[in-house]
Amino acid sequence: MKAIREFDVLILGAGPAGCTVALFLRNSGLKVAMLDKAEFPRDKVCGELMHKKAVETLEEILPGFTSDFTGFSKTLVLKKTKVHYKEQVLDFSWQNASYTCKRVDLDNYLLNTVKSKTDTYIQTGIALGKPEIKDNKVVIETTDGTQQFTGKMVIGADGAHSIVAKTFASKTVNKEQYLGAVRAYYSNIEGLSPDTAEVFFNTRNRFNYLWVFPVSGGEANVGFGLLSNNISKNKLSLKDEFKNYFIESDILKKKFENAVETHPLEGFGVPLGPDMGISCGERFLLVGDAAALSNPLSGTGIGNAVVSAKLAGEQVLRCFKSNNFSDSFMQSYRDALQVNIVNGLQQSLKTQRFISKMPFLLDLVFFLARSKRFRHFIQSRV
Ligand SMILES: Cc1cc2nc3c(=O)[nH]c(=O)nc-3n(C[C@H](O)[C@H](O)[C@H](O)COP(=O)(O)OP(=O)(O)OC[C@H]3O[C@@H](n4cnc5c(N)ncnc54)[C@H](O)[C@@H]3O)c2cc1C
Repeated sequence: MKAIREFDVLILGAGPAGCTVALFLRNSGLKVAMLDKAEFPRDKVCGELMHKKAVETLEEILPGFTSDFTGFSKTLVLKKTKVHYKEQVLDFSWQNASYTCKRVDLDNYLLNTVKSKTDTYIQTGIALGKPEIKDNKVVIETTDGTQQFTGKMVIGADGAHSIVAKTFASKTVNKEQYLGAVRAYYSNIEGLSPDTAEVFFNTRNRFNYLWVFPVSGGEANVGFGLLSNNISKNKLSLKDEFKNYFIESDILKKKFENAVETHPLEGFGVPLGPDMGISCGERFLLVGDAAALSNPLSGTGIGNAVVSAKLAGEQVLRCFKSNNFSDSFMQSYRDALQVNIVNGLQQSLKTQRFISKMPFLLDLVFFLARSKRFRHFIQSRV
C-alpha cells in the first residue's frame, strides 16, 4: 500500500541550499519535508572554500551559528591567500575570514543542525520520480511507488542535475556556462598552512587556476575547473590538464615532492550564472546549483546557495501569507535574486571575459601588486 505524506513545503535536496531553507522555515509553523536521494554523511565533489557570506547568512537565520561552526572540529578558518603566477608569489591577509570544511563533514553538520533545531520531516536515501502539479499540489512519488509526498510548493535544492529544474524549468546544460571541475585530497604537502589558501594561476587554457585549500587533518583539497565548451572544443582531459600544473610549475613540483594522494581525482559539474534561465514558477522555486548560481569568475557556489535559500524562504512565507503560488506571484523572488545575487554574477562574468581575452592583465596585476599600497587596496575591498 502507498504511504501518502502531506506537507506544506517539500524541499528536494539536503545540501547547503536545502538545509538553509529548512533552517529559515523553522519557526514558520509550516509543515516542511526535506528529501534527499543520498544517505548521509555523503560526499560532494567541491573545493570546499566557504565564503564568509554563507556563514553570515546562516548566522542571520540562526543566531550563534558562526561560533558553533567555527568551534566544529572539522572547520578551518582561513585569513590569508598566497597567489602564485609564473613562479612569483603574492601574499594577501584578509580582514574577513573564509572557511574550509570537507563537504562530507559540512553537509552532515548542516543536516544535523536541521535535525536538532527544526521539526522538519527528513528522509534520506530515497529514490524519487519526477515532481508533478496535480489538484493545486506538487506531488512526488518514490520510484518504487511505495510513498507519495505532497506539498503546496516545492523547493528545488537538488543541485547541478536538479530534477525539479529539468521538469519545471526545462533546464539543460549550457556548455558556455558550465564548468567541468576536479579535485583530489593530498597530505604531507610542503609549506601547507591551515590558515592559508593557495592559488596557482596560469594562462594555458585562458584564465585558469589550481587551488590548494587546506582542510582539517593536515590535508589539502587540490583541484581546478575549465569551461565545458573549452573542454569539448579542444578535446581536453581534465586529468591531463591537472597533471600539467605540476609539470609546469617548479614551486608546485617542490611543494608536492613528498605529498601523498589520500583521495583520487574526482569530477563534477558547476552550473554558472548569471544567465540562469527560469529560477521559479507556479509552485516551485530553484535555489543553489539547481538555479545555476555559481560565480563565473571563481567557480564558487556555496555562498549563493545559502543566500538564494534564504531568499526562497522569504518567498515561501509570502506565498503562504497570500495563499498565492502562481508564476506571477514569484516575481518578487526573481527580483530578490537579481538584486542580491545576479547583479554580482553579471559583474564577475564581465571581469572573467575581460581577463580571459587579455591574459597579460595578470602580468600587470602581479607587477602592480608588488606595491604594498596596491595590495592594501585589494585587501580592503575583498
Ligand atoms: C570541483 C568543484 C569545486 C567547487 N569548489 C567550490 C568552492 O571551493 N567553494 C564554493 O563555494 N563552491 C564550490 N563549488 C560549487 C559548490 O559545490 C556548489 O555550488 C554547492 O554544492 C551548491 O549547493 P546546493 O545545496 O545547491 O547543491 P548540492 O550541494 O549539490 O546538494 C544537492 C543535494 O540534492 C540531492 N539530490 C540531487 N538530486 C536529487 C533527487 N533527484 N532527489 C533527491 N535529492 C537529490 C543530492 O544528493 C545533494 O545532497 C565547487 C564545485 C565543484 C564541482
